[in-house]
Parts: sequence; C-alpha cells; structure tokens
Amino acid sequence: MAKVLVVEDEAVLRETIAYNLKSAGHDVQTVEDGEAALSAVNQVRPDLVVLDIMLPTIDGFDVCRQIRRTSSIPILILTARDDEIDRVVGLEIGADDYLTKPFSMRELMARVKALLRRRDLLQDELAAGLPESPDIIRTGDLEIDLGAHRVTVAGNEVSLKPREWDLLVFLARHPGQVCSSNQILQNVWGEDFFGDSRTVAVHVHGLREKLEIGQDGQRYIETVRGVGYRFAV
Ligand code: CA
Repeated sequence: MAKVLVVEDEAVLRETIAYNLKSAGHDVQTVEDGEAALSAVNQVRPDLVVLDIMLPTIDGFDVCRQIRRTSSIPILILTARDDEIDRVVGLEIGADDYLTKPFSMRELMARVKALLRRRDLLQDELAAGLPESPDIIRTGDLEIDLGAHRVTVAGNEVSLKPREWDLLVFLARHPGQVCSSNQILQNVWGEDFFGDSRTVAVHVHGLREKLEIGQDGQRYIETVRGVGYRFAV
C-alpha cells in the first residue's frame, strides 16, 4: 500500500480516482492545482503522483519537471487533448506513464499497480545491497552483453527482436531457476498485457531457433514441462 497524491482540478474525476485508490488500500491525498501539488510533494513525500496536465496556477508539465529536479517518484500523467499527448510522449518531461482521458478506473488502477510494483522491485534490489547486474552474462558459447545490448553465440552476433531480447535477459538473470509462463508474461510483457502461455512458447521457440542453430533446441533455455522455462547454467 502506498501514499498517492492525486492532482486534478475536475472535482468529480478527482474524487472518483481518490475513492478507487482508497478502496485498494492506498493512503490518498488530493489537491486541485499545480502550486498545491508542489507543496504537497514536499510535505507528504508521496510514493506516486497522479498528475493532470491542464491545471490552475502551474500546469502539469511544469509540475512534473519541478518534481523531477529533486525526486524520482513515479508520475502518472493524465492528458485530455491530442496536442497534450504529443507533448507528453514527445518531450522529456520525466513522467513514467500517461493515460488519455477518458479512461476507465480499471485502467488507471492497473497503471498505478504496475508503477508501484516497478518501484518496489527497485527498492528491493537496493535494500538487498545487490550490485548492479553484471554487464555480461556468459554460459557455454552464449554471451549476453547487457551494456552493449548485444548477443553472440560462439562469437557470432545474433540479431534479436526487442521482445526476444527482454525474454532472454529476464531468463538469464534467473539462471537455474524455473520461471513460469505467468511470471515471464508479467515481467517481459507487463501486467497490462493479455496474453497466455502460448505467447511465451512462441517467443521461446523463436529465440531458440536464433541461439541454437544445429543444436537440439534446449541448450540454453530448457522447457520444464508443465511448469515453465529455465535458463541453463
Ligand atoms: Ca484539468
């Protein structure tokens, strides 16, 4: 459960968002304009900010930029007009995600959950004192250079699609551990993706074909029948 600051000048929408967040167990503060938002961020120290763009006093763009000068808390932007969307997507204002009005409360709650989850994972890693992930993961002939975003097998570069790369890196970061299709879907595709184990199977298959030319297809990524997949160590 988290402290969430909701910045929205439309009363009905503000209260609806607050109601839904409270129902999910969050500690919610609401403000109606940009100036109040900035002082609330300093006083309340929220874990997440839901931030409308068109606001009295200081608009959401400036609020977002100013928060980013001192804090990396997740910011979910709410936009109404197409020209705002262009600016949100096109400009580096430092938001983590955005929703276009009108949106469903279900959609909002899913985004909030995903942002908080991402934050928790980062904090867990920090708390555990884990060093930065190793830059290069090697097993057998396979080498994954995380910094250079490059995969080679026996020195030959393999070209992967973005999703294949994400899938490979996720498995490789859990060597020897069985990852279920659900875990893979949540971590590689994200919580909002409605897919099933078939999606994962298709991508594992594609990945194996690229990594394991002339091999039996289970050299790096093993199938654990009925459970999931395991990156071989
Ligand atoms: Ca507004």
